Amino acid sequence: MVLNAGSSSIKFATYDIRQFDPALFRGEIEKIGLAAHLRVADPRGEILAERNWPAGSLDQNAATRQIFSTIRELIREKPVLGVGHRVVHGGTEYAAPVRIDAGVLASLEELVPLAPLHQPHNLAPIRTIAEAAPQIPQVACFDTAFHRGQPHLAQLFPLPRRLTEAGIRRYGFHGLSYEYIASRLPAVAPEIATARVVVAHLGNGASLCALQGGRSIASTMGFTAADGLMMGTRCGSVDPGALLYLMDEYKMGVRELEDLIYRQSGLLGVSGISSDMRTLRASRDPAAAEAIALFVYRIVRETGSLAAALGGLDALVFTAGIGENDAATRAEVLAGCRWLGLVLDDARNLAGSARISADGAAASAWVVPTDEEQMIARHTAAVLAAAPTPPE
Ligand code: ADP
Repeated sequence: MVLNAGSSSIKFATYDIRQFDPALFRGEIEKIGLAAHLRVADPRGEILAERNWPAGSLDQNAATRQIFSTIRELIREKPVLGVGHRVVHGGTEYAAPVRIDAGVLASLEELVPLAPLHQPHNLAPIRTIAEAAPQIPQVACFDTAFHRGQPHLAQLFPLPRRLTEAGIRRYGFHGLSYEYIASRLPAVAPEIATARVVVAHLGNGASLCALQGGRSIASTMGFTAADGLMMGTRCGSVDPGALLYLMDEYKMGVRELEDLIYRQSGLLGVSGISSDMRTLRASRDPAAAEAIALFVYRIVRETGSLAAALGGLDALVFTAGIGENDAATRAEVLAGCRWLGLVLDDARNLAGSARISADGAAASAWVVPTDEEQMIARHTAAVLAAAPTPPE
């Protein structure tokens, strides 16, 4: 069983431990705290369970219990062998998934200040399940872990050494997505699996990762998931001096700045319309077009930066909601990256092919769907196989 818990939703999936593709079923409870809604579907899209709750009647604890009981009903007499969780921050300590015990949970709690908007929501279901079913092993899988092997310089801010030693450094995120993509390349794009590759994870959150030989050597997200690219509602990199100015001249406090950086900026802030790419593509408002143009411009610039870190570029891979579905964004990004040897094949891009670049181009471009839940399931099974406990 895999849980990916956010502030207002919990996504989940269930796998047969002998077979990770496809999941047995996937589901989500969304609008937790508001009018919560549960939906579970099998791999063909057939709805297996659906339920609504009145506004305010389901908190995160109750939602976790509801998911747990729904999964148990759906798998009937089969045992839950383990629960894998997406945990955004593993700090400097966790470079790999870990079996959770009280000590691990306490050390993950200490990382809450590093990811205050995500980490508490990731950890809460771990506690709920530990109380409800203490005999079931739980495993934490980190968004930061895949980046822990980056070269030393890629992990540093040019800040005083004592602050680096205190943990103020670049961590990088979306690691489960990048690790999944790296694991898929030998099958879907063998000619680039060991090459110099930039992966563009473009969803509501967005970042780029430079892969060399399937390992992360640099990424656009740093200390927090607010860094780097422009996103749905996050600004990405802005001059730190601009933030100081807002504090000085606009008297903005920490929470106000947090709201500005995480919730009011990005596609939403620039367009004034929506954080959702589909809505912006459908709009005729020039502000929507400018928001998309800036989104693309930032991707192109940061792709150049990661190509520099790689010493050249052999391939660009698109993934996540926008990367997998928005052919126009892919075309615009590739047009901006032509100087890197990337040439789009329009027909392939529109047809939804895996490879979307023209034959003979110096660098190739690909679309590879991501699957963070499957990555968590595979990690969880591996951790449990290394230290098995009897099933419930
Ligand atoms: P999250 O980071 O929350 O997991 P997703 O990976 O689901 O987000 O990506 C959400 C983004 O993907 C939204 O901006 C949405 O508009 C965009 N998206 C999803 N489907 C399409 C589509 N068919 N065309 C264009 N954009 C799409």
